[in-house]
Amino acid sequence: MTSTALDLQHAIRNVANFPKAGIQFKDITPILVDPVLLNQAVDALAAPYFGQGITKVVAIEARGFILGGMLACRLGAGFVPVRKKGKLPYRTLVETYALEYGTDTIEMHEDAVSASDRVLIHDDVIATGGTAVAAHRLVKQAGADVVGYAFLIELDFLQGRRLLGEQAPVHVVIHG
Ligand code: AMP
Repeated sequence: MTSTALDLQHAIRNVANFPKAGIQFKDITPILVDPVLLNQAVDALAAPYFGQGITKVVAIEARGFILGGMLACRLGAGFVPVRKKGKLPYRTLVETYALEYGTDTIEMHEDAVSASDRVLIHDDVIATGGTAVAAHRLVKQAGADVVGYAFLIELDFLQGRRLLGEQAPVHVVIHG
């Protein structure tokens, strides 16, 4: 791990039993509040994707929006929010995916991504991978290619990366 990744890892606050018993929540706000770490986090997320012709960063509600917007700016790309059902005002593409108990639904504006786009999918944390796979399916519905994924933190023990397959590279800054 690079010294930057170590600095970022040390800054992440692990909060036990949040939002429910048995979950160790990865709180990234200590990175966000520090201007040096914030810059380093955005640089580290962007590093493999400079010069890759990324045209859109598709980021997942809600914490994916924070670094995702900065990542889009850093790469000279546009920003596309993927939101939970019923939050986006215009016509949407829709994907439903399985949770441990039940299902969840995410949406993206139908005109946010077009077939000529080269898309990077971003979230702060990849856990089971279910949300990122659903985001991938939204991008495919719009006819565009997913060029890669960029996550700040991967929860290795959940093996969410397996769900993403090998069609696009999965870039992770910190393993937890
Ligand atoms: P996933 O299970 O990969 O679909 O993750 C679902 C969403 O929950 C993602 O947007 C993650 O950012 C978030 N998430 C899952 N587990 C954690 C965790 N331990 N700490 C912080 N965020 C999490």
